[in-house]
Amino acid sequence: MWDEPLPLRPHHGLCMAFFQGKGYSGGFTAALAARLEELEGARRPVVLTVGTDAVCAPCPHNEGGVCTSAEKTAAYDRAVLKVCGLQEGVVLAFSDFTRLVQERIIAPGLRRQVCGDCQWDSLCRATPSRWA
Ligand code: SF4
Repeated sequence: MWDEPLPLRPHHGLCMAFFQGKGYSGGFTAALAARLEELEGARRPVVLTVGTDAVCAPCPHNEGGVCTSAEKTAAYDRAVLKVCGLQEGVVLAFSDFTRLVQERIIAPGLRRQVCGDCQWDSLCRATPSRWA
């Protein structure tokens, strides 16, 4: 029996792939690490959501439920959905989502086409994917 699906921005499948404990604030990185452990350990399903999610909740760039870079981050989300052949609102196992992110974006070298202008790009370039 699955737990309640966790809302997840599609581009966070990339952020999590390269997460190394760095982020926008101490509270944010601690929450992201905990969320990652929860999703990987419990195999909780996710519902793909273009908008602020559980990862965004403690982010200092989350202003009243809206990302201060809303246009840019939504574009990342839509790019991930398109390349993975998914749609907003789809519910799937976190492991199935990360497999698609790995196989369709990261492994073929398309990650920088999705989010290459992100401020964390150099960190992700230097880090192996945890989904590999
Ligand atoms: S609020 Fe924006 S910057 Fe913060 S985690 Fe969410 S998408 Fe990223």
